[in-house]
Amino acid sequence: MKILLVEDSATLRHAMSQYISEAGHTPLLATSGEAALQLLEDTPVDLIIMDVEMPGLNGFETTRLIREWLGGYWIPIIFVTGKNEDESYREGIEAGGDDYLIKPVSPVIIKAKIRAMARIAEMRDQLSHLNAELEALSQLDSLTQIYNRRTFNERAEQQWLLAIRHQTPISVLMIDVDHFKPYNDHYGHPAGDRCLKQISRALKSCLHRPADVLGRYGGEEFIALLPDTDRAGAKRVAECLNDAIRELDLEHRFSPSGDRVTVSIGGATCNHSMGHSLEEVIKCADRALYKSKHNGRDRATVEEVAAHKTLLIGVRCPELLLSATGPLQEHCNILTADTPEECLEIAANVYPDLIIADAETAFYNDGHVCRQLARNPQTAATPLLVLTDSDQPEAFPPADCPNAQGWLQHPFSASELRTKVQLMLD
Ligand code: GH3
Ligand code: MG
Ligand code: MG
Ligand code: MG
Repeated sequence: MKILLVEDSATLRHAMSQYISEAGHTPLLATSGEAALQLLEDTPVDLIIMDVEMPGLNGFETTRLIREWLGGYWIPIIFVTGKNEDESYREGIEAGGDDYLIKPVSPVIIKAKIRAMARIAEMRDQLSHLNAELEALSQLDSLTQIYNRRTFNERAEQQWLLAIRHQTPISVLMIDVDHFKPYNDHYGHPAGDRCLKQISRALKSCLHRPADVLGRYGGEEFIALLPDTDRAGAKRVAECLNDAIRELDLEHRFSPSGDRVTVSIGGATCNHSMGHSLEEVIKCADRALYKSKHNGRDRATVEEVAAHKTLLIGVRCPELLLSATGPLQEHCNILTADTPEECLEIAANVYPDLIIADAETAFYNDGHVCRQLARNPQTAATPLLVLTDSDQPEAFPPADCPNAQGWLQHPFSASELRTKVQLMLD
């Protein structure tokens, strides 16, 4: 152990550091409380032996500062003092000390105290080690050792954001064991658990990419997120999953739809995930799962998430209009308005999910369009993306134009526009 000895008397320092070395530990020496604090800043120590009476910061004051600085981390601190009074003892323990020895201290006592403190410090280390293990374990489902729902959600969200940034397709597969209730009812819950373990292992064996995320979503429901995977790819993976479960060849004599354990799969693919949230994609996968169940189970249905967001674009300059509509028209319904008045009229009647307008339209007549949008309950919540040629517009949304939540400087690239639109729709 590295033991910090804080002692202003040279004679005592010498004697004590010898005891420490004899006990097989490394002494680090500080001649004052201030010096001890400085040393601790870049040298980790395992135990501190602290004199109480010192010029400058005394041992109690130094200890208070050390405890404050260490926060939740505990290092044993032993006081060594000439003051043999109850009140001083109490103060030392209050200040954060763990033991209190009266000078002169015999070498036998000091060595025994070091051993006792080392034992406690070791237990502290074991505890923090176990806590770290527990932390790692809690990311996994304890039965199947794949991600639990919470961890799945966290990992999936990261991949989702990456897919938005890179504009890559992403797919979700929901996997539900067929007629698992009668399996449990007849073979028993422990057998059901064993079955779920085998199923999760088989599912895992089909997912080869490091970015794929597999989790246990509920009792006998699993979920897989497949980044950079289009509908055809997701369908192939889903079929592989169905095959892998069939190959397990687990008997299920009580299944109304066959005599082996099977799973049904519902999948959803989001292309450029334009305006959709991950929750929407999962919901869509759930609907597809329902279809697989309805159509006879032991099969996969994978669908594309429909692009149904409606955008209203109010841009006067034909060139700008083209660069705004081009990148979006494949995935959204697009309406265009030629004048600020028309923009307001369409917005109030069609409820677009987002309005894109050039600065002239948005702030026309001193912010007229913005103000009208905010005033009308039907459009008050509709976000407005302003296309501007300024590279540093004022804060968005401006105080009197709460709808104007985002801006984009033109010229912009197709993917800049898509990303911006998507973020505003999410
Ligand atoms: P379906 O084909 O329509 O999905 O039928 P099902 O019987 O699988 O449907 P349901 O969702 O009604 O039943 C799920 C059953 O899964 C309920 C319960 O008996 C079983 N189950 C859920 N979680 C666990 C678990 O952790 N361990 C075990 N052994 N069984 C579970
Ligand atoms: Mg002293
Ligand atoms: Mg279920
Ligand atoms: Mg089921």
